[in-house]
Amino acid sequence: LEARKFFVGGNWKCNGSVQQVNDLISMLNQSTLSTDTEVVVCPSQLFVQGVKNGLRSDISVGAQDVWTGGNGAYTGETSADMLADMGVKWAIVGHSERRMRGESDVEVASKAKYALGRGIKVIACCGEPLEAREAGTTNEYVFPQIKAYADAFTKADWANVVIAYEPIWAIGTGLTATPEQAQDTHAAIRKYLGEIAGSDVAESTRILYGGSASGKTAPGLSAKPDIDGFLVGGASLKPEFADIVNCNG
Ligand code: PEP
Repeated sequence: LEARKFFVGGNWKCNGSVQQVNDLISMLNQSTLSTDTEVVVCPSQLFVQGVKNGLRSDISVGAQDVWTGGNGAYTGETSADMLADMGVKWAIVGHSERRMRGESDVEVASKAKYALGRGIKVIACCGEPLEAREAGTTNEYVFPQIKAYADAFTKADWANVVIAYEPIWAIGTGLTATPEQAQDTHAAIRKYLGEIAGSDVAESTRILYGGSASGKTAPGLSAKPDIDGFLVGGASLKPEFADIVNCNG
């Protein structure tokens, strides 16, 4: 089995003006990034094509969400068919900021499955709220999210999926999980994935940590054996993003 290549995704969320996005493209084009890290940035859907056109070719561009099906009368949605046609390689699905507005585990998994069928790779998010963390029921909360993905994916699909474990209490709060907290949950997810999707899938699937990851916290987190990279929100809009990409070297 190949080693899991370190992966850092930038989730720009609903941020950026035309000027700011152009500045971000310049910043990324000028930064020195480790070739040992796979890098993907996910701008607002509105900026995806412009970023793709302006950005260096060793950074991939992804969407922040994708529709469950193809083109049609689905106002406001973005189809995987459009992304594929545009040469976009990745899409985030199941971000907690979308789940909290009503997306179910099954809907999220079906978005992922449709995208995979169109050749779009998937950053499949999961993660627990503070109440579950405090009640000691993190695994009970996260495993059904993973199970929904596994029910939708074939073994071959998993080669085009990375999991992003993002504890909701750590997202945008400045409250990063400790390396030990993250490692424990990553290891539990990997073990569970082995049980439901096979040990080869568990060994080869990258599990990213997300939640206030920063240039400061990334080295300690990435030193843990089951943390294979990051999904970065706030810090992906800053020069610090390069430090996270390079934190392993
Ligand atoms: C995210 O939303 O994916 C995220 C990890 O955000 P932040 O880094 O800002 O906590």
